[in-house]
Amino acid sequence: MKKTDLVIIGGGVFGCAIAYYYSKNNPGKQVILVERNELNNAATSRAAALMTMVRSKRSYIPLTIETFRVAKEMEEELGESLDFKVVGMMHVAATDAKVKDLEELMGIAKEYAQEAYYISKEEAKKKAPWLKLDEALKIGFVPNEAYCDPYMLGTFFARCARKHGAKIRQGVEVLGLIHEGKNVKGIRTTEGEIYAQTVVDAAGVWAPILAKEMGVGLPMAPVRSQYWITERADIFPTNSPMVLLPDAQAYARPEGGSLLFGIREKKSLVASPQDVPKDIADFVFSADEGMDDLFENGERLARFFPAFYDMGIKYYVAGFSGYTPDSQLVLGGVPGTEGFLVASGCCGAGISVAGGVGLGIAEMASGRSNPMDFSEFEISRFGNINPFSEEWLNKCASARSNKVSG
Ligand SMILES: Cc1cc2nc3c(=O)[nH]c(=O)nc-3n(C[C@H](O)[C@H](O)[C@H](O)COP(=O)(O)OP(=O)(O)OC[C@H]3O[C@@H](n4cnc5c(N)ncnc54)[C@H](O)[C@@H]3O)c2cc1C
Repeated sequence: MKKTDLVIIGGGVFGCAIAYYYSKNNPGKQVILVERNELNNAATSRAAALMTMVRSKRSYIPLTIETFRVAKEMEEELGESLDFKVVGMMHVAATDAKVKDLEELMGIAKEYAQEAYYISKEEAKKKAPWLKLDEALKIGFVPNEAYCDPYMLGTFFARCARKHGAKIRQGVEVLGLIHEGKNVKGIRTTEGEIYAQTVVDAAGVWAPILAKEMGVGLPMAPVRSQYWITERADIFPTNSPMVLLPDAQAYARPEGGSLLFGIREKKSLVASPQDVPKDIADFVFSADEGMDDLFENGERLARFFPAFYDMGIKYYVAGFSGYTPDSQLVLGGVPGTEGFLVASGCCGAGISVAGGVGLGIAEMASGRSNPMDFSEFEISRFGNINPFSEEWLNKCASARSNKVSG
């Protein structure tokens, strides 16, 4: 039987970030992270990894600002670069309603001291030659926005955590929780029991399966995200900005001379957490690599990307993220339990918010007050819900279908 201060279930970007902050800020205390596959194998390695800082959801912004800060800190610790691509984000508004949203967004940028300004259609076209902007009414530009390699970000957290003494166990599965009444005391794994002062469930879209043992329904569901990468073409300069097209419910970013783009489908694919295989590579997200969705929804994108119909598609990437009906995360103490925290319900933004999530959960696990504001992420905010019911799954899926941000 092992004993430790903190046990983290799941080695995605959330689990690795928590391990980093906890090990760094609590010298002398022990943390063990348990991952059943390899680190960052699931949602984390599949992300498009837009690190959008300036967004309409204010609750995410300080968390993302922390990710940018900690990225620099880890680069110094390891003496290596994370190579964030700071190419900026262009927001194109083509209807009065979206112009209003953009004006609000520019105000939000100011509130958080982020540089943001309007640019002309000519400037925008110069930055992203693939764009057709005839319909654009206003274009905002946020120059410090970036995207990253999500696998590398997760790995940096894990490597730095190890440097500070965290133990990371890969290929070990958590089979269940050890608890006495409402007190969570540890975990049962394929390699024996581990007792801990605090257990964090950071098991991604599988998090509700473990929380169910404590009689708690985590308010989230596994919903598919998907994107495509075109063949290479001169109209996609490698340093061109990311682009949000809310009127088309689409986003795009450069990917090594190609264009990576996502477009919201009318009805997002959702699965019950129990039906998602342990190895995500075993799940068939789309037999035709999303082609049906592309043809059904592509017209919206083609209005802004006229070469869309002529472009060959080189790659299709899909994965599950934990979505919630209000597009807020699922973070903090599990109601009605002791010694049990959750970090999940990433709503397709887990790479960008990983720093703030890691810091906040690690501080809570250390018994200190949380420097991040998690008030909008409380687990109890929907009351008693059954995360495995069809009604609930559909509610979460429609939050993703309606998403307009990147
Ligand atoms: C296609 C796609 C595009 C995306 N684009 C973006 C983007 O542009 N920007 C952005 O910020 N985010 C994006 N995301 C979301 C982002 O990838 C996730 O929010 C983030 O990776 C979530 O990290 P996580 O640690 O919660 O989950 P995961 O990375 O899924 O990690 C959970 C881990 O828990 C492990 N686990 C589960 N159960 C057990 C168990 N019983 N025992 C041991 N281990 C267990 C799993 O093996 C897994 O490794 C995207 C996601 C997808 C799928």
